[in-house]
Formats: sequence, structure tokens, C-alpha cells
Amino acid sequence: MHELSIAQEIFSIVQQNVDKENLNSVKNVKVKIGKLSNILPDSLLFCFDAIKTDTSLKNSELIINQTPVVVECSDCKSDSEIEPPVFTCPKCSGINIKMTGGSELIVEEIELNDIIPEVK
Ligand SMILES: [Zn+2]
Repeated sequence: MHELSIAQEIFSIVQQNVDKENLNSVKNVKVKIGKLSNILPDSLLFCFDAIKTDTSLKNSELIINQTPVVVECSDCKSDSEIEPPVFTCPKCSGINIKMTGGSELIVEEIELNDIIPEVK
């Protein structure tokens, strides 16, 4: 399954960016997924939840933010968001467009619970 390897990838990105002793205080992981990346958010959530069980990330939550498909039109020189399967420029209806966004997968933010400082 495609989403399973992506969930594992996100998982290892979190592990690389958060100190081991703080992993259990990861509250949520925010990811950006382009609409054209062929990733099903529900399926990715399901895989992430399945992987996190029995790990120090079991209390964390995956938050998926789907980003639109953005194109650059070489006729009217504008950047616009489009709604697939329509692949024409929304401003001038031109077909000379180049995709500049919509297939990305980015781990945007890893949020930790507030760590209560030890009272000395
Ligand atoms: Zn245009």
C-alpha cells in the first residue's frame, strides 16, 4: 500500500527531528499534501494510526492539510489554483499552463505538548 510507506516516512521524519526523550510528548504532526500527490488522506491517517500504536508516538495526531493544484499560465502570466480534472487557465482559458504546486508532501510542523519544567 502506497500510503503505508508514506506514513512510515512521516514517522521517521518525526523521529529524526524530535529528541528521543520528547517523542512521547508529540501532540500533533502537520503535513501538507498536494491534491495531485495521489495520497488518500483517510488512508494515510489510518496507516499512521496503525504504525503509532505501541510506540512513543501513540498519543500524537496526524493533521493533514490538502493543498490545491497551482498552475502558472504562460499566456497571461498568472498563477492560479485549478480544480482537476480541468487543466486550463481559469483566467484566460489558455492551455499553456505549467503545474507549480499540488504534488508535494511536506511535514510542516511537529507540535509538542508543553513540557512542564521540573520543580527544584
Ligand atoms: Zn492564462
